Amino acid sequence: MLLAIDIGGTKVASARVENGTVVERRQLPMAYDEAGFAGVIAALSAGWPAPARVAVCTTGYIDGGRVRSVNRDIIRFWDGFALADQLRARFDCPLTLINDGQAAAWGEYTARRTPLAPAPPANLLFITLSTGVGGGLVLDDRLRAGPHGLAGHVGHAGVRLAALDGATVCGCGRSGCLEMIASGTALARQARAAFGKPVTSAELFARATTDYLADAILSHAAQAVAEAIGGLHMIVDLQEVVIGGSVGLADGMLERIRCALDCLALRAAPVLSAAQLGGDAGLAGLIALDTAGAQ
Ligand code: ADP
Ligand code: ZN
Repeated sequence: MLLAIDIGGTKVASARVENGTVVERRQLPMAYDEAGFAGVIAALSAGWPAPARVAVCTTGYIDGGRVRSVNRDIIRFWDGFALADQLRARFDCPLTLINDGQAAAWGEYTARRTPLAPAPPANLLFITLSTGVGGGLVLDDRLRAGPHGLAGHVGHAGVRLAALDGATVCGCGRSGCLEMIASGTALARQARAAFGKPVTSAELFARATTDYLADAILSHAAQAVAEAIGGLHMIVDLQEVVIGGSVGLADGMLERIRCALDCLALRAAPVLSAAQLGGDAGLAGLIALDTAGAQ
């Protein structure tokens, strides 16, 4: 049995996988301290047989057995957390760790290999608009994690736009990052400044149909996503850009990004699509990587 776990800034999902097929899937809210997190992992695998392998994708990048946060503001205990040690103490079997955006990129790439279309786009960028903004890059049909595991962290690409609430410095220490404008956290922050009271990302989408301010915040975020795509496209020559995450998949977001991208009139513009696997792209990528490793 393969135990696959996808750790996000807001939620953690697990899958019990037999012979490449998900037998059972679970999901819980992320915990924001070490003890709480241990409880989440226990609950996500309780009652399941002991796994033969554990594959985990997580927000942040992997540095040895530790996770490092690019944006240290999102989950405070995560930066430097000894994730591998904690998992090895619980599961006595081989463990693989990878970034969540990278796993999702591989999941979406492999999902595009079908009997009728056997050749997926060789150059594919996955962007997740979620608690933060993450991503993964497939170049020349290979998933690129990079020597430090940082490749595809498109949330910290600089864009020529400012956050609408005037916030400048990102939790990564730089300014001008996409994540400051287009993550669920950034949308809620800008909405709070605009409306003078707490408004969640989901509420902002609901308001956007009737409220011009909510509409403007979302269109501005979409424009920032398009800017980041445009910059990367001219460097690596993308064929497809896949948008995922709860914000990316929320009503109308893909259309807003498409509209902003059209305005950029990129040469040989990449195809823009929604994650075919929805919120399960990361788990699917882990399963595909495990299956490839077993061959
Ligand atoms: P994770 O970051 O754990 O991978 P998600 O992809 O679900 O998880 O992203 C979480 C973010 O998406 C949060 O900021 C949350 O407020 C926002 N969000 C959740 N559901 C919706 C929705 N239906 N519409 C818009 N934003 C949403
Ligand atoms: Zn940043």
